[in-house]
Amino acid sequence: MRIGLYPGTFDPVTLGHRDIIRRALALVDQLVVAVAVNRDKSPLFSLEERTAMMNQMCQALSNESKVEISVVPFENLLVDCAKENGANLLIRGLRAVSDFEYEYQMVGMNRALDPELETVFLMADAHYQPIASRLVKEVARLGGNVSDFVSQDVETALKEKYKKG
Ligand code: ADP
Repeated sequence: MRIGLYPGTFDPVTLGHRDIIRRALALVDQLVVAVAVNRDKSPLFSLEERTAMMNQMCQALSNESKVEISVVPFENLLVDCAKENGANLLIRGLRAVSDFEYEYQMVGMNRALDPELETVFLMADAHYQPIASRLVKEVARLGGNVSDFVSQDVETALKEKYKKG
């Protein structure tokens, strides 16, 4: 049984993340999406909000693919989160070279902590590759149109967030 773990901050979930999840679903029997508390990054959306937006997206993807997806919060070590959820395949998305160095180090650390956990890197479709949560927030904050980058629900949530200031 192949159980994938796709961890991230997802602040907020984008169409880039969705493309990676879609691709991951073709490789696993079950997928666990782990939403990081990530206090270091001071997320715009709370853990509850990020989890709810991810759940909404995953519901549709799970119906489409018939692969079970669960969305869980996580705050501890990634390798422990994988163990707790019975995951044996770590899924990460790769964008440009800038992602590579950090991801390279992460694989090394995670492998030292748990040699059984294999990491798989996926690339989104060219159209989705430049999408980053950080830039989406920036565009939304300045009143730009983000409908090419996020789902309608997330677009509404961003508008609400920045309206409230
Ligand atoms: P993190 O804080 O772990 O970087 P993110 O929510 O920014 O969390 O990203 C989660 C994962 O999704 C990371 O592996 C990241 O590289 C990947 N990812 C994000 N956006 C894209 C994209 N547009 N194309 C491919 N991978 C992406």
